[in-house]
Amino acid sequence: MRPCDVKPHKVVKVTCIDCGGDDRNHDVLREIEIPWEEEEEEEDGGGEEGVNTFQICRCRGCETVRFRVESWDTLILDKDDEPKIFSRIFPEASSSDRLPI
Ligand SMILES: [Zn+2]
Repeated sequence: MRPCDVKPHKVVKVTCIDCGGDDRNHDVLREIEIPWEEEEEEEDGGGEEGVNTFQICRCRGCETVRFRVESWDTLILDKDDEPKIFSRIFPEASSSDRLPI
């Protein structure tokens, strides 16, 4: 067994404009999780915390490498009181709203 067969690949669905603008499977080549925590001195003890996950992803179709950031925190919860997960892709999938440098 080759070493690369041992570790299961993490795969995420990311919109790939180079493959027609649909969601494509991307291999996560590298993933870095950075948790953060903010202590608050208020009496309700409402310290905030969250995690930013940075992922280098490669499209399985066209091998384009893009950067994905997944983040959640205890400030924004969904209906079930679970932290809502946001994801952003760099470069952005749509080029129409790109700002000039
Ligand atoms: Zn692609």
